[in-house]
Amino acid sequence: MSDGELALGDTPRAKGPWFLVPEGTAATGCRSCRAVAYWVTTAAGAQMLVDCAVPGGRAPTATEAGEGVSHFATCPQAKQWKGAGKGRRGAR
Ligand SMILES: [Zn+2]
Repeated sequence: MSDGELALGDTPRAKGPWFLVPEGTAATGCRSCRAVAYWVTTAAGAQMLVDCAVPGGRAPTATEAGEGVSHFATCPQAKQWKGAGKGRRGAR
């Protein structure tokens, strides 16, 4: 119950927006920085790589959903992502 108090001065929650990661979502690695992250589908139907290894984040388990922020925001190699989308659309 004292988690909230501690969080105020100790571990600030990472900046959102936050995304829910459904239970059972398999962990994957970021192609750029190899961080562990999770692919989820947003309400808009877009694929989003979510990083749960952030302050206040929770990794999903087989039975419990997790929560994290967009890895595009936390990835140290984020600059590569912007270029990666161009000209590679549809490449699988
Ligand atoms: Zn990354």
